[in-house]
Amino acid sequence: MSDCRHFALIGHPLGHSLSKALFDDAFDGRHDYRLIDIDCPDSLRRIIGKYELSGFNVTIPYKIKIISMLDRLSEEAREVGAINCVRVEPDGSLTGHNTDSEAFLMVLHKYMEVEGPSGDYGRTKAFILGTGGAAKAVAAAFRRIGVDYCFVSRNAPKSSSDETISYDKAYSAMVQPEARTHHQPTTIIVNATPVGMAPRIEQTPWAHPELLSEKHLVCDLTYNPSPTRFMREAAEAGATVKDGVEMLKNQARLSWEFWGITP
Ligand code: NAP
Repeated sequence: MSDCRHFALIGHPLGHSLSKALFDDAFDGRHDYRLIDIDCPDSLRRIIGKYELSGFNVTIPYKIKIISMLDRLSEEAREVGAINCVRVEPDGSLTGHNTDSEAFLMVLHKYMEVEGPSGDYGRTKAFILGTGGAAKAVAAAFRRIGVDYCFVSRNAPKSSSDETISYDKAYSAMVQPEARTHHQPTTIIVNATPVGMAPRIEQTPWAHPELLSEKHLVCDLTYNPSPTRFMREAAEAGATVKDGVEMLKNQARLSWEFWGITP
């Protein structure tokens, strides 16, 4: 067991997480993976020392907050502006990385083959529900393939320098009531909020299922439960729906590659 290395998921809350089961299965006893629920990220360095972590994943609500605690960021992390994977270097310094964006793109490619040849996504428009770490990862994936996107937030942007509208362009950020009015050209809707996740499975982040049809692709990054209420209502309206399970597996595999281990 001397080669056994220690990994973790850090976030709050973690009751919904499937990551431990996923990593335990892949590691098969060679490394360990624990869930560390913290209500404040200030204790990060102490936790890394206590559990002798070689690396960890970061989830809700710390993907953006944690950036200021890291020593360096990978190119992907800089492009996304959020972190879901950290490597503890031999000198104890911390390198932040993002595997969510690539993981989402891998899923999206399969669904978008129907749209035309690879890269021909110029006319596709998307709503990203939420403005947190996962929303930024999805936005970066859309930028890479030329999909025009707009964040849909609970809150109006505070100013023109607000981070929710700093990326983009004609299709930038709006609040839920505006989304109803401007949904017409949109064919992809991604839920990047925790709304509808266990245990509050009766909730939905999209109040307008009547606006959905066969032309829509609805991706809910939630993986527990699956399907979510949002997915069920979208499917009833004829939309193609996809849950977050495959993305979760992709980002896990990309994380352990970043940590330099072969499960
Ligand atoms: P986060 O950084 O905390 O951001 C969540 C965003 O959701 C907030 O910025 C907020 O944006 C919006 N929101 C709307 N209603 C909310 C509510 N009632 N409570 C909290 N936020 C609300 O979280 P995250 O890391 O982006 O994760 C978001 C979800 O995606 C989680 O459910 C997570 O499990 C899932 N996820 C799944 C995968 C996967 O591999 N399948 C990967 C990453 C994340 P506004 O305030 O602008 O509305």
